[in-house]
Amino acid sequence: MKKHNFNAGPSILPRIAIENTAKAILDLNNSGLSILEISHRSKDFQAIIDEAVALFKELLNIPEGYHVLFLGGGASMQFCMVPYNLMSKKAAYLETGVWAKKAIKEAKLFGEVAIIGSSADKNFSYIPKDYKIPEDADYFHFTSNNTIYGTEIHEDPVSSVPMICDMSSDILSRPIDISKYALIYGGAQKNTGPAGVTFIIIKEDILGKVERVIPSMLDYKTHIASGSMFNTPPCLPIFAVKETLKWVKEMGGVVKMREINHEKANLLYETIDNSRMFVGTAEKNSRSVMNVCFVMKEQYKDKEADFISFAQSKGMVGLKGHRSVGGFRASIYNALPKESVLALIDVIKEYEKLNA
Ligand SMILES: *Cc1c(COP(=O)(O)O)cnc(C)c1O
Repeated sequence: MKKHNFNAGPSILPRIAIENTAKAILDLNNSGLSILEISHRSKDFQAIIDEAVALFKELLNIPEGYHVLFLGGGASMQFCMVPYNLMSKKAAYLETGVWAKKAIKEAKLFGEVAIIGSSADKNFSYIPKDYKIPEDADYFHFTSNNTIYGTEIHEDPVSSVPMICDMSSDILSRPIDISKYALIYGGAQKNTGPAGVTFIIIKEDILGKVERVIPSMLDYKTHIASGSMFNTPPCLPIFAVKETLKWVKEMGGVVKMREINHEKANLLYETIDNSRMFVGTAEKNSRSVMNVCFVMKEQYKDKEADFISFAQSKGMVGLKGHRSVGGFRASIYNALPKESVLALIDVIKEYEKLNA
């Protein structure tokens, strides 16, 4: 049976990226060697990472003065690297979910954290507005897409201090004005590639302002100077990222991605809004284009497990919501085709016919 992959992360990748990665595992460029068994210092690998960096810069229109890094450690490592490298005294954070809270926890190890807005009062179902960014903050940090709660910040905040963003789950889903940001990071495993590699877009001139001593591996300058090869980088995930970026480019880039993603999200939200059994969990103007969270209405609550089994029997994978929201979450990243969204809509409608 055809599977429709709604996993939140690691998640669906373009089939062509998986096939080309599989080929490179068996034989890289007819070299008789696998990508798994060549030196990261080899010409072959240098060409791979160079292409990945160049594609990232091209697709996101990254201006001069910024570097693109591919490191290990996940987005979670950035929760501490950001304040380690950039916080002298105080930083401002927006608290919009589990990942934001984790970033805040690490930042508190390095100085004063001003939580300038929070949606904790309503289980992170909306994006806080009307917050003020203190002028004396070293930077302002936020999470653009809250993977677990299905909320997303659709417009760049305006900030007079350097802006830093965890874009793990919506990078490459839309164009971004990179020049507004000092640093953007994320784990690749949501929209960019497989698990094991973290992307970082960093403006060089924000570095060198803190006085503390930074261990080499946690110092952005180390990784900029060595082109992400201070130590052995995650070679295979970087290859798969390169293949994923090639696919995004062939599809028409991030402008086209945005168009398709909005079309998919609108179709699914419309179905949920018109449903008798289901209801969305995020406030309408805060809804994510990437992660669609919904639950059963009160009178049907006891049917949630049954719906998951029903959907599974129709080939739907990964629809169970995160435990902090419950219900269902359909992650509809770039690589998820519109036909999978249409198939899910059919499943929702069929289930309602049988049960409502
Ligand atoms: C998944 C996710 C993370 C955690 O990423 P790791 O690479 O597992 O550390 C952080 N932030 C957001 C927004 C995420 O979706």
